[in-house]
Amino acid sequence: MITGKNYIGCTLSAKGNKTYKTINPLTNTENETDFVVANAEEINSAVSLAKAAYISYNKKTGLEKAAFLNAIADEILALDTLLIETYCSESGLPQGRAEGERGRTIGQLRAFANLVAEGSWVNATIDTAIPDRKPTPKPDLRKMLVPLGPVVVFGASNFPLAFSTAGGDTAAALAAGCPVIVKSHPMHAGTGELVSSAVIKAAIKTGMPDGVFSNLNSSGNKVGEALVQHPQVKAVGFTGSIKGGRALLDLAAKREEPIPVFAEMGSINPVIMLPKAIKNRSTELAKTYAQSITVGSGQFCTNPGLLLGIRGADFSDFIQKLSEEIVKIEPTCMLHPNIIQAYEKNKQTAINQKGLVVAVDFESEIGVNYARQTLVTVKGETFLQNTKLHHEVFGPFSMVVECENEEQLYTIISNLEGQLTGTIIADDNEILNYAPVVAALQMRVGRIIFNGVPTGVEVCPSMQHGGPYPASTDSRFTAVGIHSIKRWVRPFSFQDWPNHLLPNELKNENPLNISRSVNTILTKKAV
Ligand code: NAP
Repeated sequence: MITGKNYIGCTLSAKGNKTYKTINPLTNTENETDFVVANAEEINSAVSLAKAAYISYNKKTGLEKAAFLNAIADEILALDTLLIETYCSESGLPQGRAEGERGRTIGQLRAFANLVAEGSWVNATIDTAIPDRKPTPKPDLRKMLVPLGPVVVFGASNFPLAFSTAGGDTAAALAAGCPVIVKSHPMHAGTGELVSSAVIKAAIKTGMPDGVFSNLNSSGNKVGEALVQHPQVKAVGFTGSIKGGRALLDLAAKREEPIPVFAEMGSINPVIMLPKAIKNRSTELAKTYAQSITVGSGQFCTNPGLLLGIRGADFSDFIQKLSEEIVKIEPTCMLHPNIIQAYEKNKQTAINQKGLVVAVDFESEIGVNYARQTLVTVKGETFLQNTKLHHEVFGPFSMVVECENEEQLYTIISNLEGQLTGTIIADDNEILNYAPVVAALQMRVGRIIFNGVPTGVEVCPSMQHGGPYPASTDSRFTAVGIHSIKRWVRPFSFQDWPNHLLPNELKNENPLNISRSVNTILTKKAV
């Protein structure tokens, strides 16, 4: 049952006097439950509990944390159809997508469980003492990664499960040993509450401390701002707009003790389409890209919002084919009336810019909150001069830039803001002739896709989901895959400690049998 209350640790609480409802975008009607926005007292209680929980949670073994994470996955599955129906009624997304995203969420939780159960992720590094070193003795130093403390995770509008309540950020933080306070996304508060109930059940079943997880309702910026400014919060995870992420980053930087904000924000994901490939494969590429631009109503952070090629008959032919293909696709519902309004507004702002030509705009009748896919074209020179054209239009929108020549293509890529991904479409060894363009692209993005589409983010250790600002606030980290755990930890050294007082990860006998660097050699052997 969905109560509309906040989870302050294990306790349901509704002390505030502000409420809101979620909206079913398909019917454009409000869903039933009144969600009570967390008040100042509840925010404080959640953070105080998290601080207290940190002291014991941080000492849990990898196996204990793994049991907790696996239990969360089990409890999410046990929510069964209620979760799927709630997800669909709050997002307008189809059942298949809901089930797929649940699978991804479960997969992420179990991947982190395996990581911490095995244990080597802490990067244990041991350099033994050399007491008779001249002129000074060398001390015994042992380093490993330790959790930062309570972290705040902002639920993402476009991933109600995989990047919200028990999504990637939360799973990674819990795996690291950090209690989590979720700032629930107001568009899918019911889904958030159900998933929170699963986390709380799992915490109780596996003996985790009260406060290891809280879920706070919010509509308006107050709850998020208070959490980011709270002195006991040690880091923040966010997925959403550049405006929102930047506001939180600035707020965190102004604190007496600044803290890291790991925000994954907007991206237009440039796709470079080289001439030979366009000449030889325009029909296939047009079909593929029509799908990629419109999938999920364009509400993916890796949506291809910018296609770049060299002007000429072949590229014009591709644009024509892409225009024809993209309108063959039935429009779909966006996540929320506010998202579709933002889409229409941002699209219109782009279209109003001088020199922009609408190649195609879906014109037939569509349902309420459905998005019309749109393709626009612009000359390279105009794109270079007008940086307003470089901004994300979140939705099924893409801009095709017709470059004069390779040099202009290089200049455009070099002048782009940071991006999550870049894509190169090339035939045979064509790419070898464009080395400077490829090098420029690598400077601007976190991942380059070769002859594919940027949509569809595989969850695996080698995935890099994050790029130079403003794609993310810290390009050294990924928001997807097990390495995202590194956002929630810091390195810590023990110098000259007696063996029996060291954590198990650093003891001579290596009781956890983990891989460690011992005097620069990677080994599982005892010291
Ligand atoms: P958003 O506006 O960035 O908000 C995300 C969350 O951050 C919300 O829960 C909001 O809390 C909070 N927030 C935003 N600004 C804040 C501030 N100044 N201070 C404190 N909290 C703040 O994103 P959204 O609501 O999910 O979607 C809106 C737009 O974001 C979309 O139209 C799209 O342009 C963009 N977006 C991009 C991506 C991407 O991956 N590129 C993903 C999702 C969304 P409250 O709602 O409680 O105020």
